[in-house]
Amino acid sequence: MNTRDYIALEDQYNAHNYKPLDVVLERGEGIWVWDVDGNRYLDFLSAYSALNQGHKHPRILQALLDQAARLPLTSRAFRNDQLPLLARELCELTGYEMMLPMNTGAEAVETALKAARKWGYTVKGVPDNQAEIITCAGNFQGRTISIISFSTEPQYRAGFGPFTPGFVTVPYGDADALEAAITPNTVAFSVEPIQGEGGVIVPPAGYLRRVRDLCDRHRVLLIADEIQTGLGRTGRLFASDWEDVKPDIITIGKALSGGFYPVSAVLASREVLGVFRPGDHGSTFGGNPLAAAVARAALQVLTDEHLIENACIQGEYLMGRLRRIESDHVQEVRGRGLLIGVELKASAGGARRFCEALQQEGLLCKETHDNVIRFAPPLVIRREDIDWAIERIEKVLMMP
Ligand SMILES: *Cc1c(COP(=O)(O)O)cnc(C)c1O
Repeated sequence: MNTRDYIALEDQYNAHNYKPLDVVLERGEGIWVWDVDGNRYLDFLSAYSALNQGHKHPRILQALLDQAARLPLTSRAFRNDQLPLLARELCELTGYEMMLPMNTGAEAVETALKAARKWGYTVKGVPDNQAEIITCAGNFQGRTISIISFSTEPQYRAGFGPFTPGFVTVPYGDADALEAAITPNTVAFSVEPIQGEGGVIVPPAGYLRRVRDLCDRHRVLLIADEIQTGLGRTGRLFASDWEDVKPDIITIGKALSGGFYPVSAVLASREVLGVFRPGDHGSTFGGNPLAAAVARAALQVLTDEHLIENACIQGEYLMGRLRRIESDHVQEVRGRGLLIGVELKASAGGARRFCEALQQEGLLCKETHDNVIRFAPPLVIRREDIDWAIERIEKVLMMP
């Protein structure tokens, strides 16, 4: 079987809910992946930041193998000997009092929304079924019906109504608009510190600080969705750390498993996560010992290998190199740490053709929206790898 055979099979039997690049990968290691024809590529997407620790990290792999050989799943009907250790390690690392484990990012977001609503009714005293949650235009927080109910992207919603009520939209990066939208029934404001899928949109400096103050003043929970920006991606543990802001609730996922397994979690205070009583919420696989063992190893790698510091150093270097490329196609280079967006001018003919050209050059990345190329390599990347990548990126951005 070659590339074309695999693509034909996938197109025949798999729903077409993605438009992947036509590269069929079979092996990965660190920052590199290989396709079925033996070509090697530098992974400059990292599975949307799930691979911060790089492909197939040996320590995480070992943890997975060991735990799979011992006990992969108990369900939460019984306890296991990994979840308590993950919970302590995660809380000690992040400074939160409690965590709630789930699997996918969308489930963590749903969990955060449920926690905020229940907190609103049982702690803040909002009348039954009146809770409002404020969200941002341009958000991406997952694909469930409730989450797309507050999406502002027409394609994410079209054909999927009716939608879940209780959400209010304000422009991203506009603290005045947030203040104006808060009512006595507002229980939470949900925000991505940088909008990743939205096009690597970095809000104005001071935005999160003002948001924090407003939430404090109006007794509104600040929910930061750090599923993409968290765990080192932006050069801090959390992107919120750049403004010294501590959200009331943080959702994490993606890199929490180093790419081996879907693991997500909600972090918050005892006051917030304490609203859940036995039976309120759950997940068959959430908090399973395999997930917990993998996540423990993934977090250890992040700290032991100083990946957060490396993201900061290499991110600054990559950003500097990208900004020096003199291409007529580039409108703006923006981002933080190793989450970088290159926005192209309308005249460039869309980001897709540049991603396809980069694939030909041995570098894999993906457009987000029509005109932004997102660069998010694994955090284990070194300066010489960036030099290698820049040579190719420069060549492609100089295409007519
Ligand atoms: C990827 C992502 C999600 C959804 O995670 P899934 O694991 O795909 O459900 C939610 N929020 C943000 C910010 C993301 O980047």
